[in-house]
Amino acid sequence: MSELIDDFDRRIKYVRISVTDRCDFRCVYCMGEEMTFLPRDQVLSIEEISLVARAFTELGVEKIRLTGGEPLVRRNIDELVKNIGALEGLRDFTMTTNGAQLRRYASSLRQSGMQRLNISLDSLNPERFRELTRTGNLEKVIDGIRAAKEAGFERIKLNAVILKGRNDDEILDLVDFARDEGVDISFIEEMPLGNVSEHSRQETFCSSDDVRAMIETRYPLLHSPENSGGPSRYYRMADSSSRIGFISPHSHNFCDTCNRVRVTCEGRLLLCLGNEHSTDLREVIRRFPGEIEPLKQRIRESMSLKPHRHHFTTDGDVQIVRFMNMTGG
Ligand code: SAM
Ligand code: SF4
Repeated sequence: MSELIDDFDRRIKYVRISVTDRCDFRCVYCMGEEMTFLPRDQVLSIEEISLVARAFTELGVEKIRLTGGEPLVRRNIDELVKNIGALEGLRDFTMTTNGAQLRRYASSLRQSGMQRLNISLDSLNPERFRELTRTGNLEKVIDGIRAAKEAGFERIKLNAVILKGRNDDEILDLVDFARDEGVDISFIEEMPLGNVSEHSRQETFCSSDDVRAMIETRYPLLHSPENSGGPSRYYRMADSSSRIGFISPHSHNFCDTCNRVRVTCEGRLLLCLGNEHSTDLREVIRRFPGEIEPLKQRIRESMSLKPHRHHFTTDGDVQIVRFMNMTGG
């Protein structure tokens, strides 16, 4: 039973932890072309992140997702995954990755107790993939997806951010790819995180309803009550085991049932994605090195900071200047 209950009676069971702000890709909706990354001493160490994960599980959190930046570029990520995989009370341990390093890491992640993986994939066209990620190699990511399948993860889900005029013509191809590979796929609406100058978000915004209508031209979607503890709404197709999810922060507000918080790679606990309501865990961790009780106390106290709902819009008014790689998607 989670001890973490906020002022709106929402029980926090899910923590996303960003393990680095660095990445080997520069996706156009996530980062600028030139990025300045944090000095290493400002980023939590592997031991410090392990302590944070333990504190949350002792407070009743059952699900942890590692993200970034790209978690697989973090040095000693193996060690962190092993530490977290061994925590008592954890029921669901996952990672969101761009997939480029999975050939190297998939089997050790699985062996350390990670159960599920989300792998980002926005295009099946190599040139376009390169354009959207600026540095990514599609072949490597597809090979990474296959490595994850071979490693025997319980579920693998692809994440696709759809931008109008950029990759919305690939929606059906992406669904077919997911069906052929026997994996799930979620479509994500672009969120206005960070001041991205590469494209105008007003022009590229593609709603989940539009994506769904496009899919239904080929596959009627059956509503599925399944829930992975996150913000996705799921659908099934009659003739496939692949599920289709939609993450729609704009068109469908999911704040009422929000059961999660985030920790940035600097150790800032964010109580809501779209708000600046946060508290500094790193300060407590470094003031009381290796001690878990002060950290747990700070986390408990922070619950009153969780706002009722997020506030961001697609009208071009960027209210949130953090980039996604800082907070973890
Ligand atoms: N590097 C890993 C990856 O790409 O999967 C993990 C971190 S990434 C920030 C997590 C997810 O956030 C990815 O699926 C990515 O597509 C998504 N994302 C990044 N920027 C976004 C934005 N502005 N709006 C919506 N989703 C975004
Ligand atoms: Fe890197 Fe993931 Fe951001 Fe792309 S979405 S730049 S892979 S952190």
